[in-house]
Amino acid sequence: MKKEMRAAVYLGPEKIELQNLPIPEPKEGEILVKVRAAPTCGTDVKTYRRGHPKFPPPFVFGHEFGGDVVSVGRGVTKFREGMRVTANVFAECGECFFCQRGQGNLCENLVYNFGAFAEYMIVPASITRKTAFEIPNHVPYAEAALLEPLVTVVHGWHKAAIQPGETVAIIGAGGPVSLLHLQLAQRSGAGQVIAVGHSPARLKVAAELGAAHTLNAKEADTVAFIRGLTGGYGADVVIECAGTKTAWETAVEAVRKGGRVLWFGGLPGGTKVEIDAARVHYGEIDLLNMHGGTAAEAREAFDLIVSGGVKTAPLLNGELPLEQVELALKRMIAGEAVKVVINPEL
Ligand SMILES: [Zn+2]
Ligand SMILES: [Zn+2]
Repeated sequence: MKKEMRAAVYLGPEKIELQNLPIPEPKEGEILVKVRAAPTCGTDVKTYRRGHPKFPPPFVFGHEFGGDVVSVGRGVTKFREGMRVTANVFAECGECFFCQRGQGNLCENLVYNFGAFAEYMIVPASITRKTAFEIPNHVPYAEAALLEPLVTVVHGWHKAAIQPGETVAIIGAGGPVSLLHLQLAQRSGAGQVIAVGHSPARLKVAAELGAAHTLNAKEADTVAFIRGLTGGYGADVVIECAGTKTAWETAVEAVRKGGRVLWFGGLPGGTKVEIDAARVHYGEIDLLNMHGGTAAEAREAFDLIVSGGVKTAPLLNGELPLEQVELALKRMIAGEAVKVVINPEL
């Protein structure tokens, strides 16, 4: 086997460099994967623009992948050479304060995994053990790779607990996670789903996936639009996927009394959000937050992909080689693509 590989290394905001790096060897409990498909993600876009809150550069970029196991470290029995595999970007320790309380998404010792925009990548031992899965032959690598965003969406879905017949409004619709929320809302039997976004091309995908109403937020007022469709009350559930202060505030205005807001998109530290306390208190509005997902939810998300319970193909817009990671991210920023698959073999 060759000794070097090409990898797209993140050096800082708007700086990505293709480098030749040694192909790593799997240590105990780890697996080495030949990457076959690595979709770009909203988190990659955020990192590309303003850096990553937890991880200083440099690091090999990308974290969603599907590929083939090339070799396994000592003690690995779950996988063997040649298996098709995908994994979540994190795994919980299972032992800390939060893990003991079933909140593994808040684990104090979360292990993360980066490095999917490369010919090869190592999957850390705890991820290999807890949140890596063999991909059945009928599921394409790139579709299985949507495991990671779906894990967090499944976690938010459990929190929102959408009931049959409820109207669900999704703000920031068109991005990958919003299109997964949309499908899970339908799975819960939502009466109608309203999708509010900025990109006509992406809103079209939302409509194709079953959104009853779509709004380009540049063209009309979001709150008035949602109230107009709900007898003036507001939606039963509003899911905020834009990750902006304005969207967080709009979500609270667009929900009905007694309804639920799920703030899904994270904001930078120090951000202050203004909400009408009286509206929230006297209107009994539940404000739900979430971050990440548990290992159990990773299993659930993977099963949803494999069973076709969630369609991932409509979220993928073409393939680009490793040399063009930046172009892929720019296509996402421009709203031309939901996700682009980086294929190291191109
Ligand atoms: Zn991701
Ligand atoms: Zn833990």
